[in-house]
Amino acid sequence: KRIIIIGGVAGGATVASQIRRLDDQCDIVIYEKRPSFSFANCGLPYHLSHEVEDIESLYAASVDEFDNKRNIKVHLNHEVINIDTKVNKITIKDEHNEQTTDTYDFLILSPGAHAKRLEVRGQHRQFVLHNIEQLEDIESSIKTHDIQNVTIIGAGYIALEAAENLKERGLNVSIINRSDQYYKAVDRQFNDDLRDTLLSNDIKLYEHCEVDQIDAHQVILNNGQTILSDLVITAIGITPSTQFIQSSQIDLIDDKFIKVNALNQTSVDNVYALGDAIMTRRAIDNQPIHLPLAWITHRDATTIAHHITNTKIDKPSQGVYSASIIRLFDLTIATVGLKESELTDEYIKIEHSGYDRAGYMPDKEKIQIIVYIDPSTHQVARASAIGGRDVSKYIDLITMSMMNQMVVEDFINIEPTYSPPYASPKSIINMIGYKAI
Ligand code: FAD
Repeated sequence: KRIIIIGGVAGGATVASQIRRLDDQCDIVIYEKRPSFSFANCGLPYHLSHEVEDIESLYAASVDEFDNKRNIKVHLNHEVINIDTKVNKITIKDEHNEQTTDTYDFLILSPGAHAKRLEVRGQHRQFVLHNIEQLEDIESSIKTHDIQNVTIIGAGYIALEAAENLKERGLNVSIINRSDQYYKAVDRQFNDDLRDTLLSNDIKLYEHCEVDQIDAHQVILNNGQTILSDLVITAIGITPSTQFIQSSQIDLIDDKFIKVNALNQTSVDNVYALGDAIMTRRAIDNQPIHLPLAWITHRDATTIAHHITNTKIDKPSQGVYSASIIRLFDLTIATVGLKESELTDEYIKIEHSGYDRAGYMPDKEKIQIIVYIDPSTHQVARASAIGGRDVSKYIDLITMSMMNQMVVEDFINIEPTYSPPYASPKSIINMIGYKAI
């Protein structure tokens, strides 16, 4: 069996390792168009502050380790430019523009996405942060030009993580935001807490405006304002890197998202896909959703590996619940479920504000949580929380409740571990249940 994987980072490297764990006989070959391989995208922002000091620690494995220890061949600087599923053949272009072909029994697509850039006048030192070479470019520009003033364009999670880490590095940071909302995944009600956290950490916010021009030492906005700025990081969203698939027999949705079933098979049976390039399914209502996050990529790698090797758990996945979390200085913010904009007045809203541990403990942290209950099922449809680090614990518990179709009244029976440094005898998760009955 010959398995070819396109893309050698989160999805590609993971699915290759998973397959090898289950089958030590098959040939596994990875084609990666860039010079780097198997690194942690999610860790990139944390090198900007040097919280993750050693950039090398972001690499999970090397090409040699894959070759010697796992018998997986990795070809870097090899871009797949065409797929012909009728004859199971791909065409590859290497760094010298030489073209070759290769054939497969199974093909796995994990080409990810690329960050959008702003097409504005100037373009001086405009960077995006989506892979390790781009991180190195930002890092070297900061050092070479002794950069002091940085502008971030965007207000999603990558923008906020970049802002936090560059501030922690001691630089002056401004954020340009088309609206006044930050990390839109979370409830609007919490937006003031996010804004206050940014402002109190001395990040300048420019809201309801767009960029007109990026010069060497300033950014000019469409409202005429100018911002002192020597380097710009644009974080305004991503586009799946699926252009090379468009001419193939593999179905795309809206010309860019790869269509997959619950076993991650594309419209062609022996071609699978995972990661940021796919359109997946939402568990709550079975609706298609693009959820470019790491957890689902790793889970789908396991699904594909088991299906291809014909080993256990090839159970179709339930879909995703859209759980996500970020850190913004001393605030943790997390959410799961439907979007806030999708909720009608019929959903029952339960709010609770409490401490993550016994009220008399000096290091207690406040947590605010909002939960929306579907009136017909009494199950949670959406939850958002902000506050101390344990926000993650409560959102994770709620995700478990959603997976298992638990009714909210049953939250009083969730039995958390308790001791004053860790929780209170009426945990926040129980309080949601008490408020619901
Ligand atoms: P990637 O990991 O991007 O890999 C795709 C690879 O395919 C690329 O290396 C690309 O060069 C290669 N490729 C593309 N086209 C071709 C071709 N034609 N031929 C050969 N190779 C090709 N998710 C979270 O859940 N939590 C987080 O905290 C988080 N933080 C993030 C922070 C940053 C800065 C970024 C950029 C992402 C973050 N993510 C996070 C998202 C997560 O990293 C992605 O969901 C995950 O990497 C997707 O994996 P992938 O394999 O689809 O894409």
